[in-house]
Amino acid sequence: MLDFELTEEQNALVQTARAFTKDKIIPVAAECDAHSKFPKDVFVEAWKLGLVAPWIDEKYGGAGFGELDNVLITEELAYGCTGIQTSITANTLAATPVALAGSEDQKKKYLGMLTGEPVFAAYAITEPAAGSDAAGIQCRARKIGDDWVLNGQKCFITNASMASWYVVFATVDPEQRHRGIMAFIVDRQSAGLSIGKKEDKMGQRASDTATVILEDVKVPASNVLAPEGQGFKLAMATFDRTRPDIGAGACGIMRRALEESIRYAQERKTFGTAIANHQAVQFLIAEMAIKYEATRMLMLKAAWMIDKGSKNSIVASYAKALGADSAMQVATDAVQVFGGNGYMREYPVEKLMRDAKVLQIYEGTSQIQRMVIAKNLFAMYK
Ligand SMILES: Cc1cc2nc3c(=O)[nH]c(=O)nc-3n(C[C@H](O)[C@H](O)[C@H](O)COP(=O)(O)OP(=O)(O)OC[C@H]3O[C@@H](n4cnc5c(N)ncnc54)[C@H](O)[C@@H]3O)c2cc1C
Repeated sequence: MLDFELTEEQNALVQTARAFTKDKIIPVAAECDAHSKFPKDVFVEAWKLGLVAPWIDEKYGGAGFGELDNVLITEELAYGCTGIQTSITANTLAATPVALAGSEDQKKKYLGMLTGEPVFAAYAITEPAAGSDAAGIQCRARKIGDDWVLNGQKCFITNASMASWYVVFATVDPEQRHRGIMAFIVDRQSAGLSIGKKEDKMGQRASDTATVILEDVKVPASNVLAPEGQGFKLAMATFDRTRPDIGAGACGIMRRALEESIRYAQERKTFGTAIANHQAVQFLIAEMAIKYEATRMLMLKAAWMIDKGSKNSIVASYAKALGADSAMQVATDAVQVFGGNGYMREYPVEKLMRDAKVLQIYEGTSQIQRMVIAKNLFAMYK
């Protein structure tokens, strides 16, 4: 049976997240964007409502929601501001590898930290010389006695300045590429860990993006999350779970762009009539709706597959690639519908365009998604 209806509980969840976005996110979004202000208060409020990493198992203090529930919430938050939404949902990116590969003690301690109080965690794989080529990371892990010692730099890390703990990917030998990669949970207070450059970004300016510097950081063996050879697989398995959420962020941007454009097109007059009556404008708006609906179906399918326990890599990449590219196009078209006003900070759509761009970059660029898709297709038809 195929059923497109949300359950009563899911509808209630959407209403809660929608009301939260209207009351708490939209009123502060422009100011956070203009001043690159981190929305700590909004995060705390979202946490109190149970909107932060709501999928964490009840065993560790979470709400135990499914991935479908999670993406429904993300879309609502993203409608208000994807910078603030990213600040809220980045805990999922850090908590997912712990949920997937952590020991019982690690889950109790680190997932429990996120559910016990409104704190942040961050996921750190990218380095100045290794982004798309994640198997090329240079951050070194050396075993000294019972401990591991990490040295290196992680750049562009979401919530880096705020995090209480990090999932850090490091290699025992860069020559071994993916076979040498391990994953560690690193506490913020660890000696030798410091925060470097805070980035000044084009969009999603409410989110915190900074460098994490690791200088002889000692990590106990009990904080090894993935042993040698398993770290890269864990990094990729994490993205299978989190890429649908980027699709959900894209849906939030597109729905906002669409609604703003419809409203504006009905008000703005040229040549003696509302621009909504010009077919060229109607077609722009129709295309926006097509892209939104198509992405929504794919991202819900990718999330549904997670809840079913199915392997979803290819569909997660479809949702991420289509969502990111569509959100960029839809936000650009919304600026077009607004004409000169669209280019001005006073109107909401230029921010959507700046915010959308990073969806094509983080958690694997649009090119990398196509590589994942092609690799999976060739494997399927071998
Ligand atoms: C705001 C923001 C937040 C981020 N948050 C995090 C985070 O929390 N944690 C984290 O670890 N990282 C994070 N990142 C890093 C992000 O995942 C990387 O920037 C991304 O993976 C791209 O890597 P890169 O910047 O090194 O680009 P590069 O890898 O240098 O790519 C440059 C260009 O080349 C293309 N390219 C590269 N290789 C190929 C290929 N084989 N075929 C075709 N095209 C190719 C890319 O698609 C891209 O267009 C964040 C980035 C940003 C901007």
